[in-house]
Amino acid sequence: MPMGHEVHGQGGFKFQNWAKTYGSSPELYFQPTSVEEIREILDMARQRDKRVKVVGGGHSPSDIACTDDFMIQMGKMNRVLKVDKEKQQVTVEGGIFLSDLNIELSKHGLALANLGAVSEVAAAGVIGTGTHNTGIKHGILPTQVVALTLLTASGEILECSESINADIFQAARLHLGCLGVVLTVTFQCVPQFHLHEVAFPSTLTEVLDHLNDHLQRSQYFRFLWFPHSENVSVIYQDPTNKPPSSSASWWWDYAVGYYLLEFLLWISTFMPSLVCWINRFFFWLLFSSRVENIAISYKIFNYECRFKQHVQDWAIPIEKTKEALLELKAALENNPKMVAHYPVEVRFARGDEIWLSPCFQRDSCYMNIIMYRPYGKNVPRLNYWLTYEGIMKKHGGRPHWAKAHSCTRKDLEKMYPAFPKFCSVREKLDPTGMFLNTYLEKVFY
Ligand SMILES: Cc1cc2nc3c(=O)[nH]c(=O)nc-3n(C[C@H](O)[C@H](O)[C@H](O)COP(=O)(O)OP(=O)(O)OC[C@H]3O[C@@H](n4cnc5c(N)ncnc54)[C@H](O)[C@@H]3O)c2cc1C
Repeated sequence: MPMGHEVHGQGGFKFQNWAKTYGSSPELYFQPTSVEEIREILDMARQRDKRVKVVGGGHSPSDIACTDDFMIQMGKMNRVLKVDKEKQQVTVEGGIFLSDLNIELSKHGLALANLGAVSEVAAAGVIGTGTHNTGIKHGILPTQVVALTLLTASGEILECSESINADIFQAARLHLGCLGVVLTVTFQCVPQFHLHEVAFPSTLTEVLDHLNDHLQRSQYFRFLWFPHSENVSVIYQDPTNKPPSSSASWWWDYAVGYYLLEFLLWISTFMPSLVCWINRFFFWLLFSSRVENIAISYKIFNYECRFKQHVQDWAIPIEKTKEALLELKAALENNPKMVAHYPVEVRFARGDEIWLSPCFQRDSCYMNIIMYRPYGKNVPRLNYWLTYEGIMKKHGGRPHWAKAHSCTRKDLEKMYPAFPKFCSVREKLDPTGMFLNTYLEKVFY
């Protein structure tokens, strides 16, 4: 089969996600530089009966971006196409990393109103899985999208927004990578702003008893719970006009502390009962005093994630926060053999109307659990994972799409009222399943 003269696929490429927890061996790996090249790749896939997976930053902690057929990495399609200062909107190519976009936007006095913990992720990738941060007045990242363009399996380019192809837009704002290649994304921005971050110690009882006060007191409130203890670190982040400043010694403690943490966690793989003390020790070392920091918004939203880890992150109705967390705490207390690494990160998001959003039509609490992989070693987590999933399901939870979960179509149909609408858009845009993979087969079949 002759290949197009511009587009060359690389054989023998090994794909691995950021945490090195999932990977695949695509038959051909492409890094196209134009829409024409992507069209050629889709033509070739159609002719050879191959599936196609598009990948952004490869950060998803699951096999959602894996394929053994054709993989398209969008890193070379990363331009800012248009900045509309009046509407405060920016149109970018789907492959742009948010780390580059943040800097470009700040040159125009603009910013994204909310960001996840890392920015080495692509514009189309973050919306693909419904990336979120925190703040009860703020929706998940796809709520910031006002338009996008999609190259479908047939090679057609579709413009979508609230007014054009509105149904496809509601599906594509959280697209799971299964509707086509996202070529461009238009984000609604806000004027550039600085954030004042204050982190201070508290207890689980205090935070859960005064949850509403915390939610009202800080625009981007979240908290970290240290399992096997009552310890909590509360984090407030709020816009400020004050100049940048930071607690210098804190970063030093942080860096040293984390090398020690990895070593101790590795030791604990031979003596799991140590985990409870490790969680308490690091709370005391790093989180037991008040820390303040002021910087441009994206530097506060992003934080360094040093260690590879397994994660789960489900969204439950916000009113279930207390009950669910206390059940998780009780389950750990009643089962001393089940260990949980710190932190359980608890964040919040406003309800929205995006069909496959875990926050569809309800304000939500995201509860992120982790198990580190010290020096790449997997730590047993099955019991903890199943217990957590059981509690999340009982409280009407919906899993984060990027993070590995055990749900199949049967579960998802119950969780998402608009699931059939999404399926019908997907079947119309991709009748042969060109953009499916193993992860998506579980979702749709
Ligand atoms: C260290 C770390 C921190 C994280 N922090 C957070 C957080 O704070 N909040 C949160 O919600 N999540 C978080 N995540 C998860 C992360 O935000 C999501 O996995 C996000 O989707 C990653 O973006 P990506 O560009 O790496 O996407 P990828 O993993 O590359 O792809 C994600 C999906 O998008 C599809 N896709 C990508 N580009 C295109 C395109 N152009 N066209 C069509 N489909 C496409 C892929 O096929 C796949 O289905 C974190 C992950 C890590 C590793």
